[in-house]
Amino acid sequence: MTIPKYDKLIFEISKPGRKGYTLPPNDVPPKDVTELIPEKFLRKVPANLPETSENQVVRHYVNISTKNHHIDKGFYPLGSCTMKYNPKVNEVTSSMPGFRNTHPHTPEQHSQGALELMYELAGMLTEISGLKAASLQPAAGAQGELTGLLMIRAYHDKQGNPRKKIIVPDSAHGTNPASVTLAGYESVNVKSNESGTVDLEDLGRVVDEDVAGIMLTNPNTLGIFESQIIQIEKMMRDVGALLYMDGANLNALLGISRPGDMGFDCVHINLHKTFSTPHGGGGPGSGPVAVSERLEPFLPVPRVIKADGRYRLDYDYPDSIGKVHAFFGNFGMLVRAYTYMRMHGPEGLRGISENAIINANYLLARLRDHYELKYDAPVMHEFVLSASRQKAMGVRAMDIAKRLLDYGFHSPTVYFPLIVKEALMIEPTETETKETLDAFADALIKINEEVKSDQDLVLQAPHTTPVKRLDDVRAAKEINLCYKE
Ligand SMILES: *Cc1c(COP(=O)(O)O)cnc(C)c1O
Repeated sequence: MTIPKYDKLIFEISKPGRKGYTLPPNDVPPKDVTELIPEKFLRKVPANLPETSENQVVRHYVNISTKNHHIDKGFYPLGSCTMKYNPKVNEVTSSMPGFRNTHPHTPEQHSQGALELMYELAGMLTEISGLKAASLQPAAGAQGELTGLLMIRAYHDKQGNPRKKIIVPDSAHGTNPASVTLAGYESVNVKSNESGTVDLEDLGRVVDEDVAGIMLTNPNTLGIFESQIIQIEKMMRDVGALLYMDGANLNALLGISRPGDMGFDCVHINLHKTFSTPHGGGGPGSGPVAVSERLEPFLPVPRVIKADGRYRLDYDYPDSIGKVHAFFGNFGMLVRAYTYMRMHGPEGLRGISENAIINANYLLARLRDHYELKYDAPVMHEFVLSASRQKAMGVRAMDIAKRLLDYGFHSPTVYFPLIVKEALMIEPTETETKETLDAFADALIKINEEVKSDQDLVLQAPHTTPVKRLDDVRAAKEINLCYKE
């Protein structure tokens, strides 16, 4: 007997005629399908769908789900992404029938609860960010960026000149320059100085009246607070430019400092990072934007307002950039984030950031003698090491990332930010115990020893996972989602 090394595809399990469902008997007169759907829209051959029993389907997907590393299975210190756990109570509230079953076209008088939740959530986000108003529509941080930039463009347009450039530091996330380009601006790079923050001299060289704004991440992608933000704000205001904050790292600031107080006009808030809603494939995401008075008139519509004790959808903002998402954004995520924030309350939210900062600094203290630290400054909720010493011995950051899987850990973010060669960007989050942090530090220290004593072990890792190293470039370029007999 040969035991297959991989799980069968669901199509390989399939047997013609096998079913995993039972439907009640039909109690309406049957109709011919061609009476209901025009002939030209009908399939010529039946869809190639797998046919299985119910428990075959359940086992198939449960087995697959445990082959992958995920936040419910193990530590996931993916820098910049804030992979904190997803509280199960979020799932309870977001599946309450009143939220889950509400059709987006439900009239206002029958959706007061959903509207109230959106109104309250936008209010909490403006309070946390120290800004004037918020839109919950964007579906992710990147779409929040585009939304913010389109508002900045609308603002300058209204003054008579949309301007040409947006300044982006060299430590920025790749979505920043991409969003700048999509918004019709030219992305102008500004360098980082030796302490890993914006180089003010270089900034002085690129600032002029053609600049519409700057996009800053604070704390930045090195986990370092941009302490010169007040000077940067002044330089921008002097030329009439606006300030956009990439709020992906808000996990470090809750209840401690506010983008609005730092002078920002707009911030996107990744609910799937800071406020515990699931990421990516487990998503969808949500990236609300909060804005200052300058940008408020340009917010997407509709906005939820409260008048005479009722909640209403208000479309009456002539300067609005319009809609950026169908209906009101990813509503289920809004319920989850709202739950998380109400569960913690203001003190609890501050505690999140304090613990995130302590955890990151603890891990850094344990690891700093074993890996290179290019920017040695106090860090906030994450930090960036480099595998450059290991590379000199023939092992790269990617090899270390793969070896970590053998120890049961997801890798940190690697090769980002770009200003650190062989970057290992580590973000433990506030929800991890000291035992987990220690086990992770021990694993990285052990791998560093293996690099010296048993290099092949690292170079050929992972050894314990269902698949070894995949050709991920090819997987992205030659997507094949079809099953062929
Ligand atoms: C995650 C992230 C983004 C993009 O956010 P998405 O929600 O993934 O679209 C932008 N900037 C930084 C610094 C990030 O970490």
